[in-house]
Order: sequence, then structure tokens, then C-alpha cells
Amino acid sequence: MASGERQRTCRACGKKFDYPAKGSAATRHHCEDCVTVPAETRKTMERLNSRVTQLENQLRRLELKSTSPPA
Ligand SMILES: [Zn+2]
Repeated sequence: MASGERQRTCRACGKKFDYPAKGSAATRHHCEDCVTVPAETRKTMERLNSRVTQLENQLRRLELKSTSPPA
């Protein structure tokens, strides 16, 4: 997946975005939407987003367990 090198995940909202993109104000770590959010608010968003990511990973692990092949 060499073509996916330009795609980044926003730290604040988890959105996937292209970087750098023409006419976009996005930075390496934040998408166009979140780059305008005040830094303090963004910090909170980042914290929540990391929790969501953790929960998603946990959920995936649980799903893997419950979808074990039928005996
Ligand atoms: Zn974002």
C-alpha cells in the first residue's frame, strides 16, 4: 500500500485525510476540520479519540473471540 503514504489519520477526530492536499489547511496530525479548533479543545478531543481507538481495539478482540468457528 505505497499509495496510502499520503493518507493520515487525524489525532483529534480519527478521520482519514490526505496530506498534503491542495488548498487544505490540514496539518500532519490534524484534519482540515480540527485544525481550526482551539488547542485546548483539541486536546480534549485527542484524549477522547484515543479512548475510542482503545475501545475499538478491545471490541475487535472480543468480536474475534465470539466469531470462533462453530464446533
Ligand atoms: Zn479531525
